[in-house]
Amino acid sequence: MAHGRPREEDPYHVVWNRLALPKHNFIAWLYAKDRLLTKDRLIKHGLLIDGNCDICSNAIETSEHLFFLCSFSNRCLQGIGDWLGVDIPEHGTLDWCRKLKMKSLMKKQLIIAAILALYYHVWWVRNKCRKEMVLPHPQLFVIGRVQQLIRSVGNRKLWNTKHRVDSEWCTKVDIRMQ
Ligand SMILES: [Zn+2]
Repeated sequence: MAHGRPREEDPYHVVWNRLALPKHNFIAWLYAKDRLLTKDRLIKHGLLIDGNCDICSNAIETSEHLFFLCSFSNRCLQGIGDWLGVDIPEHGTLDWCRKLKMKSLMKKQLIIAAILALYYHVWWVRNKCRKEMVLPHPQLFVIGRVQQLIRSVGNRKLWNTKHRVDSEWCTKVDIRMQ
């Protein structure tokens, strides 16, 4: 792998999670395939640009930096993990999702959808910071949006019995089953 990234095996079922929005699946798929046009890749393709992360300016923008190591995304990752009650790892996250064992399939699917939404929103913030002077706000730009989305998906979907709803967890993350 080009950036020394841990190899994530067959993330197909993770990145194409059915509860995620298609644009979230797509960004996750590009990330999984190492095809996101982060600055390190643009430079490798010959573009003469400043390679620093537009969000924190503290490191070269690689996909690992952007999604996990950047102080901004790290705070988002922590915030989403605290909210969901899981420790989301900073490395091999898609693989962690793939191996996630939970009694409630519903909970597992929603956690994965939240992580894909997190990727998408961090990418969105990155693009916003590239174009304009923005003070990235983790709660406003990422955590709050991911929470809103996951709550609406959780409430909307008609879960069948095989999903085994985890009511205690739903109360904690404020998903009210209808
Ligand atoms: Zn950064």
